[in-house]
Amino acid sequence: MSDWVTDGIASIRPYQPGTPIAEVVRRFGLDPARDVVKLASNENPLGPSPLAIDAARQALSGVHRYPDSAAADLSAAIARKFTTTTDAVVVGNGSNELLELIVRTFCTPQHHAVFGEPSFVVYPLACLAQGVPFTAVPLRDWKHDLPAMAAAVTERTRIVFVANPNNPTGTHVGEAELVGFLRDLPDGVIVVLDEAYAEYASAPDYRSGADLRALHPHLITLRTFSKIYGLAGFRVGYALMAESLAAYVHRVRAPFNVGSVAQAAALAALGDEPHLRRSREMNLAERGFLSQGLTGLGLTVVPSEANFVLVNIHRDAEPVYQALLRHGVIVRALGNLPQCLRISVGTRPENERCLSALATVLG
Ligand SMILES: *Cc1c(COP(=O)(O)O)cnc(C)c1O
Repeated sequence: MSDWVTDGIASIRPYQPGTPIAEVVRRFGLDPARDVVKLASNENPLGPSPLAIDAARQALSGVHRYPDSAAADLSAAIARKFTTTTDAVVVGNGSNELLELIVRTFCTPQHHAVFGEPSFVVYPLACLAQGVPFTAVPLRDWKHDLPAMAAAVTERTRIVFVANPNNPTGTHVGEAELVGFLRDLPDGVIVVLDEAYAEYASAPDYRSGADLRALHPHLITLRTFSKIYGLAGFRVGYALMAESLAAYVHRVRAPFNVGSVAQAAALAALGDEPHLRRSREMNLAERGFLSQGLTGLGLTVVPSEANFVLVNIHRDAEPVYQALLRHGVIVRALGNLPQCLRISVGTRPENERCLSALATVLG
């Protein structure tokens, strides 16, 4: 196809991030402090932990030194939190880097990957970049269809990605279903449970991969500091896996992949339980408020365990997304779900702004 890149790379449609506040300010002449509400990237509307900001400030005077390449203090704190060993932890430049690293470390074009559709767009991106063929298995009732995903596994399948809760639907797969899935998969298949929103999940049958390690030898649990920890700008994520797997990922990982200021902030954030609790409780209350408001506008909300909701607006979503931008409300339109918007849960004033702008736009 191209002289320069593989067919896989040539076929990649670049990742579309949430529209930045600065762009909306520039395009529509709005006041960033007063007029713009960003509910597009599932960030923590309460911001980072104050302890994380302090730690980052203190770390600044040391930025002439390279960071600790092993992220030893942070890895040790994560290992303690999950009752595992430091050697079972890999820290990455966001969990995004870890997803790519895992594919690069363990998959070749002779292998095969399985994931849900729609789910996190980075899974196909990482596979296409490495020439790894994949099967995208449609969701069922907005949820991962684990039996269909298991049925899509062949002798070549090296990796299965399950976002739990899923993005962009916010749905989760419950413990019983997940346990059966993990038990039945061949040992040679790596299962990546991407738990970017785990801390928000409140369903009684939600269970983290961190608690299911005994069920499958090649289970990788991915977490991030970008969502509930409010550190998206610092780019820190982590993965829990068997030490034998982690040793391979460390060989492929670039040295110094996470900066020193980011490591310090993440370590402090991990210890700020009250901030975590406040964030979780506010999200739970506001997710209900936002969902009710959207339902009140005649829209269909997919029940969510995350810090965003997927809403079916029963008409072409792109013009509604554009009209909301002009009102200073940034949400997410989704190419593969043309009648849906994904809206992050904000503070009460932000959610009210979003609902009133939507009411105006929808007429
Ligand atoms: C936001 C998100 C991530 C986290 O990305 P980072 O690179 O850690 O910022 C990972 N997986 C899913 C499903 C997400 O929605």
